[in-house]
Amino acid sequence: EKIFLNGKVISGVDAAISVFDRGFLFGDGIYEVMVQLENGLFYGDAHWQRLQQNLEKIGIDYNVAEMEAYLNPLLMASNLLNKPCLIYIQVTRGVAPRKHSFPKDVRPTTMMYALPYSLPHINTKNVYAILRSDNRWLRCDIKSISLLGNVMANERAMEENAEEAVLVRDGFITEGSHTNIFFVKSGKVYTHPANQLILDGITRKIVLKLCEDLDIPVMEKAIGVDQIDGMDEAFLTGTTTQIASIAQLGDHTYHAPDTIGPVTKKLQEAFAELKKLEPEK
Ligand code: PMP
Repeated sequence: EKIFLNGKVISGVDAAISVFDRGFLFGDGIYEVMVQLENGLFYGDAHWQRLQQNLEKIGIDYNVAEMEAYLNPLLMASNLLNKPCLIYIQVTRGVAPRKHSFPKDVRPTTMMYALPYSLPHINTKNVYAILRSDNRWLRCDIKSISLLGNVMANERAMEENAEEAVLVRDGFITEGSHTNIFFVKSGKVYTHPANQLILDGITRKIVLKLCEDLDIPVMEKAIGVDQIDGMDEAFLTGTTTQIASIAQLGDHTYHAPDTIGPVTKKLQEAFAELKKLEPEK
C-alpha cells in the first residue's frame, strides 16, 4: 500500500506520523473522501474545493493544489490509475509541542491514500436507521477529523442492527452520522438547510441539482421528529452511500424492505445516469 505523506509517495509501512501531530493530540484537522469511477473522479473539483474551504475555515494555510498534483502519481504507484477507487485525504495543523493555540510556522501534515473500491450502479439497500440525539458541536459544516459524536452515534446504530444513526437536535432532524437525509412529502423533497448544523454534502448538492433538472420541488427546511410519520419517503445521501432508501426510521416504517418510493427511485436512476457522463470537473 502506497501513501502520500508530506509531499512524497511512500510505502505504507514507512508512513509514520509524530505523536505530537495536532491531528493526533487535538483532532485538529480536516478530511475528505472522494471516489474515482471508470471514467474519472466523480465531482473531484467539488471535493478539492470543499477541502480548501474547510482548511480556510480553521485557519490552516495550505494550498490543496499540491495534493491534487500528487493524486495521479499516488494512483500510479497504487496501481489504481483510471481504476475505480476510493481516495481518503487528510490535512492536520502539523507537529508542535502540545499547546491549544495555533503554533507558528509549522507545516501542515498532508496525507492521502487510495484503495480499490467500486460503487454499485444503484444502492439497492433499503435501510433501517435509528434516531439519536445530535451531541456534536455547533460547527458541523466543518469536515473535521474530530468525529467522536458521529462515531458514537454510528456505533449505536451498529449495535441495534441499523445501517445509520439519524441525528436530532432540538426536535429537528439534522443529518446522519455520515450521510445527509432527505424526506419526500406529496412529491416535494425536503432536506436540512446547509448551515452550521450539517455538513454540506457533495452528494446532497448533486441531488438538489437533479431535483431541479427533474422538476421536483425542493424545500431546504428542517423536518421535525414529530413530522417523520407524515412523510411519504426518506433517503440518505453520501459519497459512498450514493442514494439509499430508508425503509424504517426509528419507529416509523415507510415501506417494506423490497419497496422503494417513487421519488427516491427516480433520483437513484438519474444519479446512476449522471455517473455514466463525462465527469463533471
Ligand atoms: N454528513 C456527514 C456528517 C458526513 O460525514 C458525510 C460524509 N462525509 C456526509 C454528510 C455526506 O457528504 P458527501 O455527500 O460529501 O459524502
